[in-house]
Amino acid sequence: MQEFTADLKHRMRGVWRDAELVDPNTHNNKLATYHSWFAIPSSRNERMPIIVPRYLHLDLSKHVMRNISKFRLRVHTLKDEAAAWLEDGSCVCDQCPGEDEHVQNEVHALLFCQDHRVCELRKHFFFLFTPFFEDFSAAQPFLLQQVNNQLVHDFLS
Ligand SMILES: [Zn+2]
Repeated sequence: MQEFTADLKHRMRGVWRDAELVDPNTHNNKLATYHSWFAIPSSRNERMPIIVPRYLHLDLSKHVMRNISKFRLRVHTLKDEAAAWLEDGSCVCDQCPGEDEHVQNEVHALLFCQDHRVCELRKHFFFLFTPFFEDFSAAQPFLLQQVNNQLVHDFLS
């Protein structure tokens, strides 16, 4: 039984080891996206208690909890997820004004999208963004420069 358990743990960690090698900014991969931006790092010590995401400890309605979980697990209708289910689906954001083409993924929606409704939300919750992203301002409530995955992870955590 111990051999089976050890093999199962090794295989489970192998899934995450493989996901570590994939950048969600360049590959549309659900597992890599979750691992890079949302996952709580697993402890090397198997006797340590499991750490659950912070939002699960907050006093939020079931509806909000469900929506956060769906967003984290890529169960949403952003273009990069929808494209995986449609033969000729495009990942390009259809909400950004202008000619530039941006992949509409979780990070784009949270930090980069220039849709006026999203910008208004960011202005309203400005205090959440400024500790992490110095480029944010009320006049420009979106980022123009790419940010690294660790910073995105820290913000989402
Ligand atoms: Zn956009």
